[in-house]
Amino acid sequence: MTMNRRKFVKKVGVGAVAVGAAGLALKPKRARAAKAKTYNWKMVTTWPPHFPVLGESADFIAKWVEEMSDGQLKISVYGGGELVPPLGVFDAVSSGTVEMGHGASYYWAGKHAATQFFAAVPFGLNAQGMNAWVMAGGGQELWDELYARFNLKGFSAGNTGVQMGGWFNKKINSIDDLKGLKMRIPGLGGKVLAKAGGNAILVAGGEIYTNLDRGVIDATEWVGPYHDYKMGFYKAAKYYYSPGWHEPGTTLECMVNKQKYDALPKNLQAIIETACARSTIWALSTFEALNEQYLQKLVNEHHVQVLTFPDDVLAKLKVLTNEVLTEMAAKDPFTKKVYDAYMAFKKNHDAWNVISEERYAKLKHL
Ligand code: CA
Repeated sequence: MTMNRRKFVKKVGVGAVAVGAAGLALKPKRARAAKAKTYNWKMVTTWPPHFPVLGESADFIAKWVEEMSDGQLKISVYGGGELVPPLGVFDAVSSGTVEMGHGASYYWAGKHAATQFFAAVPFGLNAQGMNAWVMAGGGQELWDELYARFNLKGFSAGNTGVQMGGWFNKKINSIDDLKGLKMRIPGLGGKVLAKAGGNAILVAGGEIYTNLDRGVIDATEWVGPYHDYKMGFYKAAKYYYSPGWHEPGTTLECMVNKQKYDALPKNLQAIIETACARSTIWALSTFEALNEQYLQKLVNEHHVQVLTFPDDVLAKLKVLTNEVLTEMAAKDPFTKKVYDAYMAFKKNHDAWNVISEERYAKLKHL
Protein backbone atom coordinates (compact mmCIF):
# COMPACT_ATOMS: atom_id res chain seq x y z
CA MET A 1 0.00 0.00 0.00
CA THR A 2 2.91 2.36 0.79
CA MET A 3 4.45 1.82 -2.63
CA ASN A 4 1.16 2.37 -4.41
CA ARG A 5 0.53 5.49 -2.46
CA ARG A 6 4.00 6.88 -3.23
CA LYS A 7 3.49 6.24 -6.93
CA PHE A 8 0.07 7.82 -6.69
CA VAL A 9 1.47 10.93 -4.99
CA LYS A 10 4.17 11.24 -7.68
CA LYS A 11 1.63 10.90 -10.45
CA VAL A 12 -1.21 13.17 -9.38
CA GLY A 13 0.56 15.67 -7.11
CA VAL A 14 -0.11 17.05 -3.66
CA GLY A 15 -3.61 18.44 -4.23
CA ALA A 16 -5.11 15.02 -4.83
CA VAL A 17 -3.36 13.41 -1.85
CA ALA A 18 -5.84 14.60 0.76
CA VAL A 19 -8.76 12.98 -1.05
CA GLY A 20 -6.72 9.88 -1.81
CA ALA A 21 -5.50 9.50 1.76
CA ALA A 22 -8.97 9.95 3.18
CA GLY A 23 -10.24 7.25 0.85
CA LEU A 24 -7.47 4.90 1.92
CA ALA A 25 -8.12 5.56 5.60
CA LEU A 26 -11.76 4.59 5.31
CA LYS A 27 -11.19 1.23 3.65
CA PRO A 28 -9.39 -0.62 6.46
CA LYS A 29 -11.83 0.80 9.04
CA ARG A 30 -14.81 -0.63 7.12
CA ALA A 31 -13.03 -3.92 6.70
CA ARG A 32 -12.27 -4.11 10.44
CA ALA A 33 -15.82 -3.23 11.48
CA ALA A 34 -17.23 -5.96 9.26
CA LYS A 35 -14.79 -8.55 10.63
CA ALA A 36 -14.79 -7.74 14.36
CA LYS A 37 -16.78 -10.14 16.52
CA THR A 38 -19.02 -8.41 19.04
CA TYR A 39 -19.59 -9.63 22.58
CA ASN A 40 -22.51 -9.19 24.96
CA TRP A 41 -21.38 -9.98 28.48
CA LYS A 42 -22.94 -9.91 31.93
CA MET A 43 -21.33 -8.57 35.10
CA VAL A 44 -22.79 -9.56 38.48
CA THR A 45 -21.88 -7.57 41.57
CA THR A 46 -21.89 -7.92 45.34
CA TRP A 47 -23.44 -4.43 45.66
CA PRO A 48 -27.01 -3.17 45.54
CA PRO A 49 -27.73 -1.78 42.04
CA HIS A 50 -25.91 1.53 41.35
CA PHE A 51 -24.64 1.62 44.97
CA PRO A 52 -22.71 4.89 45.47
CA VAL A 53 -19.08 4.60 44.32
CA LEU A 54 -18.84 0.80 44.82
CA GLY A 55 -21.65 -0.18 42.44
CA GLU A 56 -21.09 2.90 40.31
CA SER A 57 -17.53 1.76 39.68
CA ALA A 58 -18.95 -1.45 38.14
CA ASP A 59 -21.34 0.65 36.03
CA PHE A 60 -18.46 2.84 34.85
CA ILE A 61 -16.30 -0.13 33.88
CA ALA A 62 -19.13 -1.34 31.61
CA LYS A 63 -19.59 2.15 30.14
CA TRP A 64 -15.87 2.73 29.55
CA VAL A 65 -15.36 -0.73 28.01
CA GLU A 66 -18.23 -0.12 25.58
CA GLU A 67 -16.91 3.35 24.68
CA MET A 68 -13.28 2.27 24.26
CA SER A 69 -14.23 -0.79 22.21
CA ASP A 70 -16.67 1.22 20.08
CA GLY A 71 -19.43 -1.20 21.07
CA GLN A 72 -17.44 -4.37 20.37
CA LEU A 73 -17.82 -5.46 24.01
CA LYS A 74 -21.08 -4.59 25.76
CA ILE A 75 -21.46 -5.45 29.44
CA SER A 76 -24.80 -5.53 31.29
CA VAL A 77 -24.30 -4.91 35.02
CA TYR A 78 -26.49 -6.58 37.64
CA GLY A 79 -26.81 -5.61 41.31
CA GLY A 80 -26.44 -8.26 44.01
CA GLY A 81 -29.51 -10.51 43.99
CA GLU A 82 -30.67 -9.53 40.52
CA LEU A 83 -29.11 -12.52 38.76
CA VAL A 84 -27.22 -14.24 41.56
CA PRO A 85 -27.01 -13.50 45.32
CA PRO A 86 -24.30 -10.97 46.31
CA LEU A 87 -22.02 -13.68 47.65
CA GLY A 88 -22.72 -15.94 44.66
CA VAL A 89 -20.61 -13.72 42.39
CA PHE A 90 -17.41 -15.77 42.70
CA ASP A 91 -19.05 -19.08 41.75
CA ALA A 92 -21.10 -17.52 38.94
CA VAL A 93 -17.99 -16.09 37.25
CA SER A 94 -15.75 -19.06 38.06
CA SER A 95 -18.21 -21.48 36.46
CA GLY A 96 -18.82 -19.23 33.44
CA THR A 97 -22.53 -18.72 34.18
CA VAL A 98 -21.66 -15.03 33.70
CA GLU A 99 -18.46 -13.54 32.29
CA MET A 100 -17.64 -10.87 34.89
CA GLY A 101 -18.07 -9.95 38.56
CA HIS A 102 -17.42 -6.97 40.80
CA GLY A 103 -16.89 -6.87 44.56
CA ALA A 104 -13.95 -7.19 46.93
CA SER A 105 -11.76 -10.29 47.12
CA TYR A 106 -11.98 -10.69 50.92
CA TYR A 107 -15.56 -11.85 50.42
CA TRP A 108 -14.02 -15.07 49.08
CA ALA A 109 -11.97 -15.97 52.18
CA GLY A 110 -14.01 -19.19 52.36
CA LYS A 111 -12.71 -20.17 48.90
CA HIS A 112 -9.10 -19.43 49.81
CA ALA A 113 -7.65 -17.48 52.74
CA ALA A 114 -5.10 -15.77 50.47
CA THR A 115 -7.88 -13.86 48.63
CA GLN A 116 -7.93 -11.45 51.58
CA PHE A 117 -4.47 -10.05 50.77
CA PHE A 118 -5.86 -8.58 47.53
CA ALA A 119 -8.55 -6.58 49.36
CA ALA A 120 -7.49 -5.49 52.84
CA VAL A 121 -5.23 -6.57 55.69
CA PRO A 122 -5.55 -4.96 59.15
CA PHE A 123 -2.57 -2.64 59.72
CA GLY A 124 -1.56 -3.48 56.15
CA LEU A 125 -0.94 -1.42 53.02
CA ASN A 126 -2.86 1.80 52.38
CA ALA A 127 -4.37 2.62 48.96
CA GLN A 128 -1.10 3.88 47.52
CA GLY A 129 0.69 0.80 48.84
CA MET A 130 -1.95 -1.59 47.49
CA ASN A 131 -1.79 -0.01 44.04
CA ALA A 132 2.00 -0.18 44.14
CA TRP A 133 2.00 -3.83 45.22
CA VAL A 134 -0.71 -5.02 42.82
CA MET A 135 0.26 -2.96 39.78
CA ALA A 136 4.04 -2.76 40.08
CA GLY A 137 5.24 -4.87 43.00
CA GLY A 138 4.39 -8.48 42.10
CA GLY A 139 0.89 -8.55 43.66
CA GLN A 140 -0.94 -9.02 40.35
CA GLU A 141 1.19 -12.07 39.50
CA LEU A 142 0.28 -13.73 42.81
CA TRP A 143 -3.36 -12.76 42.36
CA ASP A 144 -3.28 -14.35 38.87
CA GLU A 145 -1.67 -17.50 40.27
CA LEU A 146 -4.37 -17.80 42.95
CA TYR A 147 -7.36 -16.95 40.73
CA ALA A 148 -6.21 -19.26 37.90
CA ARG A 149 -7.05 -22.12 40.28
CA PHE A 150 -10.65 -20.95 40.08
CA ASN A 151 -10.68 -20.17 36.34
CA LEU A 152 -10.68 -16.45 37.15
CA LYS A 153 -8.67 -13.35 36.32
CA GLY A 154 -8.85 -10.54 38.90
CA PHE A 155 -8.16 -6.83 38.54
CA SER A 156 -8.01 -3.98 41.00
CA ALA A 157 -11.11 -1.91 40.25
CA GLY A 158 -11.32 0.68 43.00
CA ASN A 159 -10.06 1.59 46.42
CA THR A 160 -11.79 3.08 49.45
CA GLY A 161 -8.67 4.68 50.95
CA VAL A 162 -8.26 4.44 54.73
CA GLN A 163 -11.66 3.56 56.13
CA MET A 164 -13.15 4.78 59.41
CA GLY A 165 -12.98 2.59 62.51
CA GLY A 166 -16.73 2.38 62.89
CA TRP A 167 -19.86 3.52 64.71
CA PHE A 168 -20.25 2.92 68.44
CA ASN A 169 -22.69 3.88 71.19
CA LYS A 170 -20.10 3.59 73.94
CA LYS A 171 -16.60 4.96 74.16
CA ILE A 172 -13.64 2.67 73.57
CA ASN A 173 -11.10 3.68 76.20
CA SER A 174 -9.31 0.36 76.65
CA ILE A 175 -9.06 -2.99 74.89
CA ASP A 176 -11.45 -4.37 77.55
CA ASP A 177 -14.21 -2.18 76.12
CA LEU A 178 -14.19 -4.49 73.10
CA LYS A 179 -14.98 -7.54 75.28
CA GLY A 180 -18.47 -8.82 74.53
CA LEU A 181 -19.01 -6.10 71.94
CA LYS A 182 -21.25 -7.31 69.12
CA MET A 183 -19.84 -5.60 66.07
CA ARG A 184 -20.44 -5.95 62.37
CA ILE A 185 -16.87 -6.27 61.11
CA PRO A 186 -16.00 -8.71 58.34
CA GLY A 187 -12.89 -10.63 57.38
CA LEU A 188 -9.56 -10.47 59.16
CA GLY A 189 -10.66 -7.47 61.23
CA GLY A 190 -13.47 -9.62 62.61
CA LYS A 191 -10.98 -12.35 63.58
CA VAL A 192 -8.89 -9.74 65.40
CA LEU A 193 -11.95 -8.43 67.26
CA ALA A 194 -12.81 -12.01 68.27
CA LYS A 195 -9.27 -12.43 69.69
CA ALA A 196 -9.86 -9.24 71.70
CA GLY A 197 -12.96 -10.86 73.20
CA GLY A 198 -15.57 -9.23 70.97
CA ASN A 199 -18.20 -10.86 68.78
CA ALA A 200 -17.70 -10.28 65.07
CA ILE A 201 -21.08 -10.54 63.45
CA LEU A 202 -21.72 -10.90 59.74
CA VAL A 203 -24.51 -8.68 58.51
CA ALA A 204 -25.27 -7.93 54.87
CA GLY A 205 -24.89 -4.26 53.94
CA GLY A 206 -28.60 -3.63 53.56
CA GLU A 207 -29.40 -4.91 57.06
CA ILE A 208 -26.72 -3.17 59.11
CA TYR A 209 -28.68 -0.03 59.88
CA THR A 210 -31.75 -1.90 61.18
CA ASN A 211 -29.61 -4.23 63.28
CA LEU A 212 -27.71 -1.31 64.80
CA ASP A 213 -30.90 0.66 65.41
CA ARG A 214 -32.58 -2.31 67.14
CA GLY A 215 -29.52 -3.20 69.22
CA VAL A 216 -29.00 -6.57 67.52
CA ILE A 217 -25.44 -5.31 67.08
CA ASP A 218 -23.69 -2.75 69.33
CA ALA A 219 -21.38 -1.32 66.67
CA THR A 220 -20.55 -1.48 62.99
CA GLU A 221 -17.80 -0.50 60.65
CA TRP A 222 -18.56 0.36 57.04
CA VAL A 223 -16.44 2.54 54.74
CA GLY A 224 -15.93 6.23 55.44
CA PRO A 225 -17.84 9.51 55.88
CA TYR A 226 -19.33 9.79 52.39
CA HIS A 227 -20.66 6.25 52.22
CA ASP A 228 -21.55 5.99 55.91
CA TYR A 229 -23.56 9.20 55.61
CA LYS A 230 -25.55 7.65 52.76
CA MET A 231 -26.16 4.56 54.93
CA GLY A 232 -27.62 6.73 57.71
CA PHE A 233 -25.61 5.20 60.56
CA TYR A 234 -25.52 8.57 62.36
CA LYS A 235 -29.19 7.99 63.24
CA ALA A 236 -28.32 4.86 65.23
CA ALA A 237 -24.90 5.60 66.76
CA LYS A 238 -23.25 8.71 68.18
CA TYR A 239 -19.51 7.96 68.24
CA TYR A 240 -17.63 7.70 64.97
CA TYR A 241 -14.15 6.29 65.50
CA SER A 242 -10.99 6.71 63.47
CA PRO A 243 -8.88 5.17 62.03
CA GLY A 244 -10.00 2.08 60.10
CA TRP A 245 -7.09 -0.03 61.36
CA HIS A 246 -8.83 -3.09 59.94
CA GLU A 247 -9.20 -1.70 56.37
CA PRO A 248 -6.41 0.77 55.60
CA GLY A 249 -6.94 0.83 51.83
CA THR A 250 -9.46 -1.71 50.64
CA THR A 251 -9.10 -2.72 47.01
CA LEU A 252 -12.26 -3.43 45.05
CA GLU A 253 -12.04 -6.09 42.39
CA CYS A 254 -13.36 -6.81 38.94
CA MET A 255 -13.09 -10.46 38.03
CA VAL A 256 -13.39 -12.11 34.63
CA ASN A 257 -13.93 -15.77 33.78
CA LYS A 258 -10.40 -16.72 32.73
CA GLN A 259 -11.36 -18.98 29.83
CA LYS A 260 -13.54 -16.24 28.34
CA TYR A 261 -10.91 -13.57 29.03
CA ASP A 262 -8.16 -15.63 27.37
CA ALA A 263 -10.40 -16.14 24.32
CA LEU A 264 -10.92 -12.39 23.83
CA PRO A 265 -8.93 -10.52 21.17
CA LYS A 266 -5.96 -8.63 22.65
CA ASN A 267 -7.57 -5.22 22.13
CA LEU A 268 -10.56 -6.15 24.32
CA GLN A 269 -8.32 -7.66 27.01
CA ALA A 270 -6.37 -4.40 27.11
CA ILE A 271 -9.60 -2.39 27.21
CA ILE A 272 -10.90 -4.35 30.24
CA GLU A 273 -7.57 -3.93 32.03
CA THR A 274 -7.54 -0.20 31.23
CA ALA A 275 -11.14 0.33 32.38
CA CYS A 276 -10.37 -1.43 35.67
CA ALA A 277 -7.27 0.72 36.22
CA ARG A 278 -9.32 3.85 35.53
CA SER A 279 -11.92 2.63 38.00
CA THR A 280 -9.23 2.10 40.65
CA ILE A 281 -8.27 5.76 40.39
CA TRP A 282 -11.84 6.99 39.99
CA ALA A 283 -13.20 5.30 43.14
CA LEU A 284 -10.29 6.37 45.34
CA SER A 285 -10.44 9.92 43.99
CA THR A 286 -14.19 10.13 44.59
CA PHE A 287 -13.86 9.03 48.21
CA GLU A 288 -10.91 11.38 48.73
CA ALA A 289 -12.84 14.27 47.21
CA LEU A 290 -16.03 13.76 49.24
CA ASN A 291 -15.06 12.31 52.64
CA GLU A 292 -14.18 15.51 54.48
CA GLN A 293 -17.25 17.32 53.13
CA TYR A 294 -19.49 14.55 54.48
CA LEU A 295 -17.59 14.28 57.76
CA GLN A 296 -18.41 17.95 58.31
CA LYS A 297 -22.08 17.26 57.57
CA LEU A 298 -22.07 14.40 60.11
CA VAL A 299 -20.50 16.63 62.75
CA ASN A 300 -22.34 19.88 62.09
CA GLU A 301 -25.76 18.68 60.97
CA HIS A 302 -26.07 15.43 62.92
CA HIS A 303 -23.86 16.13 65.95
CA VAL A 304 -21.78 13.00 65.54
CA GLN A 305 -18.74 12.86 67.84
CA VAL A 306 -15.59 11.95 65.95
CA LEU A 307 -13.14 10.15 68.22
CA THR A 308 -9.82 8.36 67.80
CA PHE A 309 -9.01 4.93 69.22
CA PRO A 310 -6.39 5.31 71.98
CA ASP A 311 -2.86 4.34 70.89
CA ASP A 312 -2.61 1.48 73.40
CA VAL A 313 -5.85 -0.04 72.04
CA LEU A 314 -4.45 0.14 68.50
CA ALA A 315 -1.11 -1.31 69.65
CA LYS A 316 -2.91 -4.31 71.18
CA LEU A 317 -5.05 -4.77 68.07
CA LYS A 318 -1.86 -4.83 66.01
CA VAL A 319 -0.34 -7.58 68.17
CA LEU A 320 -3.55 -9.60 67.77
CA THR A 321 -3.50 -8.92 64.00
CA ASN A 322 -0.01 -10.40 63.74
CA GLU A 323 -1.25 -13.51 65.57
CA VAL A 324 -4.21 -13.85 63.20
CA LEU A 325 -2.00 -13.46 60.12
CA THR A 326 0.76 -15.86 61.20
CA GLU A 327 -1.79 -18.50 62.26
CA MET A 328 -3.55 -18.14 58.90
CA ALA A 329 -0.29 -18.35 56.93
CA ALA A 330 0.78 -21.47 58.83
CA LYS A 331 -2.26 -23.37 57.59
CA ASP A 332 -1.52 -23.30 53.86
CA PRO A 333 1.68 -22.97 51.75
CA PHE A 334 0.22 -20.64 49.12
CA THR A 335 -1.24 -18.33 51.78
CA LYS A 336 2.24 -18.29 53.37
CA LYS A 337 3.77 -17.41 50.01
CA VAL A 338 1.40 -14.44 49.53
CA TYR A 339 1.76 -13.38 53.17
CA ASP A 340 5.58 -13.38 52.89
CA ALA A 341 5.51 -11.41 49.63
CA TYR A 342 2.97 -8.91 51.00
CA MET A 343 4.91 -8.33 54.23
CA ALA A 344 8.25 -7.98 52.40
CA PHE A 345 6.71 -5.42 50.07
CA LYS A 346 5.11 -3.58 52.99
CA LYS A 347 8.43 -3.38 54.83
CA ASN A 348 10.05 -1.60 51.87
CA HIS A 349 7.02 0.57 51.22
CA ASP A 350 6.85 1.62 54.89
CA ALA A 351 10.55 2.52 54.91
CA TRP A 352 10.16 4.73 51.83
CA ASN A 353 7.00 6.27 53.32
CA VAL A 354 8.87 7.40 56.43
CA ILE A 355 11.02 9.77 54.39
CA SER A 356 8.43 10.63 51.73
CA GLU A 357 4.68 10.73 52.51
CA GLU A 358 4.98 10.70 56.31
CA ARG A 359 7.65 13.37 56.37
CA TYR A 360 5.63 15.51 53.99
CA ALA A 361 2.43 14.99 56.05
CA LYS A 362 4.22 16.53 59.03
CA LEU A 363 4.60 19.81 57.12
CA LYS A 364 0.84 20.52 57.09
CA HIS A 365 1.09 22.90 60.08
CA LEU A 366 3.63 25.15 58.34
CA1 CA B 1 -15.38 -1.77 55.79
